[in-house]
Amino acid sequence: MRFLPFAASMTSNNETVSDIARVYRGTFVHSTQNAAVEILKDTVLGVDTEGRIAFIGAAAEVAKLAETWGFRISDVRHLGPRFFMPGLVDTHIHASQYSYTGTALDLPLLKWLETYTFPTEVNYKDLDFAQDVYTKVVKRTLRNGTTTACYFATIYTDSSLLLGEIADKYGQRALVGKVCMDANNAVPLYKETVDHSTKETNRFIGELLKRKYALVRPIVTPRFALSCTPPLLSHLGEIAKNNDLHIQSHISENKEEVALVKKQFSDSESYAEVYHKHNLLTDKTVMAHGCYLTDSELELFRKTGTAISHCPNSNISLCSGMLDVRRVLKHKVKLGLGTDVAGGYSPSMLDAIRRALDTSKVLNIQDAEHKTLTFEEERTGNFQVGKDFDALLINPLVPDSPFDMFPNESTKGVLEKFLNLGDDRNIEEVYVAGRKVIPFQE
Ligand SMILES: [Zn+2]
Repeated sequence: MRFLPFAASMTSNNETVSDIARVYRGTFVHSTQNAAVEILKDTVLGVDTEGRIAFIGAAAEVAKLAETWGFRISDVRHLGPRFFMPGLVDTHIHASQYSYTGTALDLPLLKWLETYTFPTEVNYKDLDFAQDVYTKVVKRTLRNGTTTACYFATIYTDSSLLLGEIADKYGQRALVGKVCMDANNAVPLYKETVDHSTKETNRFIGELLKRKYALVRPIVTPRFALSCTPPLLSHLGEIAKNNDLHIQSHISENKEEVALVKKQFSDSESYAEVYHKHNLLTDKTVMAHGCYLTDSELELFRKTGTAISHCPNSNISLCSGMLDVRRVLKHKVKLGLGTDVAGGYSPSMLDAIRRALDTSKVLNIQDAEHKTLTFEEERTGNFQVGKDFDALLINPLVPDSPFDMFPNESTKGVLEKFLNLGDDRNIEEVYVAGRKVIPFQE
């Protein structure tokens, strides 16, 4: 399973050599093109003052590296029993729903939206309300190792800008979407007109880009087909194209929704075609869920480069469906994991990893031919010279660790224990673009 390469795409290609800010020596675990889990033991890694990985080498070469890069060997930090792994990427999370995370899981999607979501999102006209929830969701996800998040905010531009400001303040890499919707019969108070939505989306993008946050970018965000009329979808496709922006939305999450889309957009061949018609399927698009996509829709995803955000906690919590990851990978469609807070009740990507494996095992129980996923397939990013240093320092021996260690544990075994049993207590430090963001520097 591959997380989306946002971190890589947002990395600067500036070739100038910067000074070395930090050098670490110890174990680094990551995924590479060839290996889902590569363990680099007794390795030294240097991060420059721009937050990029300057070098990676064997510890035996530390003297030579020190000479080349101009650092003192006495300044090298030894990791001991700890190890570094790449930061986690949440490809789908509703920051505005964080206030009720862990509750309201008793209804199917469309009823759930009407009953809990829309009435809550109306509150984000109030900037004080937004400030409180958005600060908490950014801090909570960072603590849990989410170094990059693809956020849905709400239809309100000013509080959506505030979410960008808060992500920047705490140092999280983020794509922030002002939600667009001009259809909502259930809660008519919570919708826009086509003109207003288009105008405000342009204002949101313009304002956010003007602030020049290093790691925060706007993302064009039609809520989903049922909340948008064709004219709005068409404007949003155009805005994304003209500004070369990422796009996010939802697709084929539950059966009732799929049937309604078919009815409402009867002139489209498929759900995917509704978006494709309006230029919303691109190699910068992330569509959440996709549980019921047909083979031809998956083929369209592959051709356009559209990615799927698999949100297994949400899919099970709202009884929406189960994405067959093997089938998606067979079609060579890009895939990432998402929490989908608050349809998914956990803001932790570790939970998303576990639920993805659970879902795959349930599919195996139903059909023995279905080959289950393994933890090794949960590809994270990788440590590579020139890339931004987005990393988690994992301590398996922290005093209140939620799991126990025994003599002669292999590093791979420790990684597996952390992924299955660990939590934010084991995540001692978090770095985004070389900046230490956990512990919080307040
Ligand atoms: Zn969602």
